[in-house]
Amino acid sequence: MTMRPSTEYKTYLSEEELPTHYYNLRADMQTDHAPMLNPATFEPVTVDDLSPVFATELARQELNITDRYIPIPEPVREFYRMYRPSPLVHAKFFEEALGTPAKIFYKFEGNNTSGSHKLNSAIAQAYYAKQQGLKCLTTETGAGQWGTALAMACGFFGLDLHVFMVKCSAQQKPHRKAIMETYRARVTESPSEETAVGRAILAKDPGNTGSLGTAISEAVEEATSTEGCRYALGSVLNQVMIHQSIIGLETKTALEKLGIEPDILIGCAGGGSNLGGLIAPFMADRLAGRRAPHFIAVEPASCPTLTRGRFAYDYCDVGKVTPLAKMYTLGSGFIPSPNHSGGLRYHGMSPILSQLYHDGFLDEARAVEQTRVFEAATLFARVEGTLPAPESAHAIRVAMDEALKCKETGEEKVIVFGLTGTGYFDLAAYTAFRNGTMTDYIPTDEDLAVGFANIPHLEGIQ
Ligand SMILES: *Cc1c(COP(=O)(O)O)cnc(C)c1O
Repeated sequence: MTMRPSTEYKTYLSEEELPTHYYNLRADMQTDHAPMLNPATFEPVTVDDLSPVFATELARQELNITDRYIPIPEPVREFYRMYRPSPLVHAKFFEEALGTPAKIFYKFEGNNTSGSHKLNSAIAQAYYAKQQGLKCLTTETGAGQWGTALAMACGFFGLDLHVFMVKCSAQQKPHRKAIMETYRARVTESPSEETAVGRAILAKDPGNTGSLGTAISEAVEEATSTEGCRYALGSVLNQVMIHQSIIGLETKTALEKLGIEPDILIGCAGGGSNLGGLIAPFMADRLAGRRAPHFIAVEPASCPTLTRGRFAYDYCDVGKVTPLAKMYTLGSGFIPSPNHSGGLRYHGMSPILSQLYHDGFLDEARAVEQTRVFEAATLFARVEGTLPAPESAHAIRVAMDEALKCKETGEEKVIVFGLTGTGYFDLAAYTAFRNGTMTDYIPTDEDLAVGFANIPHLEGIQ
């Protein structure tokens, strides 16, 4: 329901309105997610278990269920000022093109060189590592957005960074490597010969084109076996969702300024951090029994974690060196078809979002095929100007479907979605779409069964 019609195209908050604290949704959840388990003992992990892997402050945030608000360190806020607060855009031209009475808004996170929301967490993670006196970080990257974001963040704070980039993505997007190297990161295609995990995978399957799960195993192995080095992950984890809450906090403030209450809130879901961050302060309303929008998570039909996955304890990586998390999962060995939304190809989902979905607070998950996604992306680019990342275009597709429903019913719903990034590195995908060579791969139940067979059976736990 629109309370006061908006005439603004873009709503910018002032620098003073940049949030001073992150919001930790977990502090307000009625049912906490099941504890992460140490892969060696199957006992709930402690800060001590996590500290060899993550910077200690991040290990604390990972397990923090009590602090609703966590102060954003001033050097991180200083960095945020280079590209935040990000605009909330009223997609008037998109509404016009669709001929819908719905009001559509999007929160645009693509206004930085890395091109996505991932920088929000990268800079925080690099800061806490620097604070602790660490010298280097390792990470994995799929489509390259996370690696680029962390390269920028480590470059800023003077930390070394080693990025394991999923081989098939590295070959699809050679220019990503050039940016990461510009910011002084070292980039290795994964699986690689540089780690024991990588060598074992290549010995069994020399043509392996990699997956996020494989690259994570390599990055964790290197971090835990190198002095002064830790690992950083760009999604899935609770700490990342805490940092990404800045998206939702700004969105809520901007909508309040406009006097608008959203009816539907939509985000694409890879590991769940951008969606989790966008919806967090609105979900707080839902959990407290106040009015809240209908929440929709959108995922690719080729990697249908929420819509077709199992809610079970699983490893976060192929090598089974990471803690087990209870989450929606397709199995840590699941390798999705090489579709064009690299950022949405992870086998698991944030434990917080998984729990909220399981309990019915995250209202809905939808899987969409990539040609329908690119149809929406292309229309959006033509009328709104911004060329969306394929990942973000999943949310655009569902916003479009909802707006078209409103056209039939005449409802003036307010639809808000997260536009997580730009698509400048995805031009091969746009070309495939225009050529008509893009296909829609949807795994069969038999395909998914292969991944499910890898989910561990924990006696007495699941
Ligand atoms: C990584 C990425 C996503 C997926 O985000 P999650 O927080 O992991 O769900 C979506 N859009 C873009 C542009 C990305 O780079």
